[in-house]
Amino acid sequence: MAKIFCVANQKGGVGKTTTSVNLAAGLAKLEQRVLLVDLDPQGNATMGAGINKASLNASTYQVLLGEAEVNDARQRSEAGRFDVLPANRELAGAEVEMVELDNRERRLKHALAKVDADYDFILVDCPPALSMLTLNGLCAAHGVIIPMQCEYYALEGLSDLVNTIKKVHANLNTDLKIIGLLRVMFDPRMTLSQQVSAQLEQHFGGKVFKTIIPRNVRLAEAPSYGVPGVVFDPSSKGAQAYIAFGAEMVERIKTM
Ligand code: ATP
Ligand code: MG
Repeated sequence: MAKIFCVANQKGGVGKTTTSVNLAAGLAKLEQRVLLVDLDPQGNATMGAGINKASLNASTYQVLLGEAEVNDARQRSEAGRFDVLPANRELAGAEVEMVELDNRERRLKHALAKVDADYDFILVDCPPALSMLTLNGLCAAHGVIIPMQCEYYALEGLSDLVNTIKKVHANLNTDLKIIGLLRVMFDPRMTLSQQVSAQLEQHFGGKVFKTIIPRNVRLAEAPSYGVPGVVFDPSSKGAQAYIAFGAEMVERIKTM
């Protein structure tokens, strides 16, 4: 049975996709079987895994609308050694088209149930919104990984996300938990980073992952080569951190 995790934060550009792609590749290095679900019409996770979003036969869009099975739409990231349910801008239409459908917030959950046995981890890269797409991710998941930058405004949006997760837990998916907050793009030379990081630990205690992902240019360069940073430059500080995060997640699921 796969453990399903959403990588979510309604703030844009906080490192969701970088985390999804590199955690997937890091887990694959640890011999875990991984499916990465791209739930964002931007298709960044798809491209970052080395799959051309412009030439998809089937994608997350068709899967959500019941026009394709995950089994037909998934592709292999040869670079990352994990599977991908890819997406492109077509997925933006699903938001509106799903309104007509029954059980519209559980479409992804039902689709993933059919491939559950093939994986140890299913990671869902969510779009930067608390939308019907993100809601599908939250309804399908056992837990949420929240990447955040250690800056002043990071904390502001966090309560909206935490409240949404609480509501989904209460009304739609009692399995759902916050697995943890992941500090990303961390710059240890900045006093503010240190302060916000300490505040997070104070407020959220054990819900803050031990691993900290540093700001590292190799992670930012990798997507343009269609290769996860973890594979692009395995010895870089960023890659090493995501591999350590993979190991932390493997440990974490043993207690779930
Ligand atoms: P969106 O909300 O648009 O989906 P996102 O939350 O998925 O964005 P990313 O696309 O992962 O965020 O990251 C935003 C930008 O920051 C990208 O250019 C990415 O390459 C860069 N980036 C992410 N993590 C790091 C890091 N640890 N070090 C340096 N650059 C990073
Ligand atoms: Mg993204």
